Amino acid sequence: MEKLKYERPIINKIKAGVPDKYGMSTRVQIKTDIEGIPVKDIVNQYGSPVFVLSEKTIRETYQEAHRAFQSRYPKVQFAWSYKTNYLDAVCQIFHDEGSWAEVVSGFEYDKAIENGVPGNKIIFNGPDKSDADLKKAVENGSFIHIDHFDELYSLMRIVKKIGKKAKVAIRVNMDTGVYPKWDRFGFNYENGEAWNAINRIMLTENMDLVGLHTHIGTYMMTTNAYTVAAGKLADLAVKTAQKYKHHIKYIDMGGGFASKNTLKGAYLPGKDTCPSFDDYAEAITSALINSEIDPEHLPVLFLETGRALIDDAGYLIGSVLANKRLSNARRATIIDIGVNILFTSFWYEHEIYPGQACSQQTEDTTIYGPLCMNIDVIRESIQFPLLQKNDLVVIPRVGAYNMTQWMQFITLRPNVVLIDREQNLHLIRKKETNEIFKNQEIVPKHLKNKKT
Ligand SMILES: *Cc1c(COP(=O)(O)O)cnc(C)c1O
Repeated sequence: MEKLKYERPIINKIKAGVPDKYGMSTRVQIKTDIEGIPVKDIVNQYGSPVFVLSEKTIRETYQEAHRAFQSRYPKVQFAWSYKTNYLDAVCQIFHDEGSWAEVVSGFEYDKAIENGVPGNKIIFNGPDKSDADLKKAVENGSFIHIDHFDELYSLMRIVKKIGKKAKVAIRVNMDTGVYPKWDRFGFNYENGEAWNAINRIMLTENMDLVGLHTHIGTYMMTTNAYTVAAGKLADLAVKTAQKYKHHIKYIDMGGGFASKNTLKGAYLPGKDTCPSFDDYAEAITSALINSEIDPEHLPVLFLETGRALIDDAGYLIGSVLANKRLSNARRATIIDIGVNILFTSFWYEHEIYPGQACSQQTEDTTIYGPLCMNIDVIRESIQFPLLQKNDLVVIPRVGAYNMTQWMQFITLRPNVVLIDREQNLHLIRKKETNEIFKNQEIVPKHLKNKKT
């Protein structure tokens, strides 16, 4: 029989049968496998830490979201928000499901083209589009969402020069009752800027105003903000139709749906408070069909949902490096997952599960990452069992924004693997190496080979 692991005795207040703020406490939950594949095997094969994505969850989540909108509105088109997770394998899954691409830079635009997305299925957002980017987008027939007047004027010059019609929309920002307001992107609705931009575009030859766009925020907890926003875009579409007999072809409601992660400082867990796709769909589609838009010219509804479509599909597996007692006798566990690869730990209280059977005795613990930096805290305070060095931990719901916002800081970025629908593992992004960073650097001749 294996020798039992020594656990240092501690004094704990007995809380059995006493509810905490989430209700009755339950047994320590563990996560030993992801879709039937033992986390131990994944780490043995791909190292620790390692990101794992589930193709099945991505597809099922997409289909659930699509169904919620399609069943309430006749014409719906999703466009995958590249910045949320632009690993090519991930983008390909969304494109395979029927999603177009939504990009916010020249880099992302080229990525979408390389992923085989036809130019006329790319939505080009964001405040930073170079003249070369704009020209390429016009030539490819992409949908250009104009962010500010300077961009509008650049585009006017470009279309005049190349003599090709641009398909454009404007991004509109507005008061939706959610504060702070996101008014730095696009043209404001309330002060008349949006209407002004529409009039300028309508009077420009070689510009076809095909859509109206808004992206009101991210992790929006209230569906009412979408009702307000869709209503305001519908008003602009109606005004445009009245004045110019010109019908807007699509209304793009952007992204921003909340995922099931729990925000820092939230009283209840995110999975209990986040609205469902049906809730969001009900709010948006009701506002559109109840508007004054002529039903003969009902616009296509575009959605650029990012976070809510991919968060649940991502896991991060890591291992314990050490345990220690802080000066105030508090227990601290150090793991090999730092804020450099788990960027969302700045906003979320990520759940963390032991990756193997463990003691049921928990203690209020701080979980630190491996960086030599005070801010490298994954969880400030969590009821956690004592794990030993090399024990595994699993952090669920990390699919959104981590694999794009991660930083090469102190450590290199780890492997990313995908579990396909037949439970095969595929390496979809290789762990970085010193070689990669060396290739980018140039040491001036006079500093080379110095003896120290
Ligand atoms: C980031 C972004 C999205 C996706 O937002 P989520 O909050 O992840 O759904 C959609 N549209 C635009 C313009 C964006 O910048």
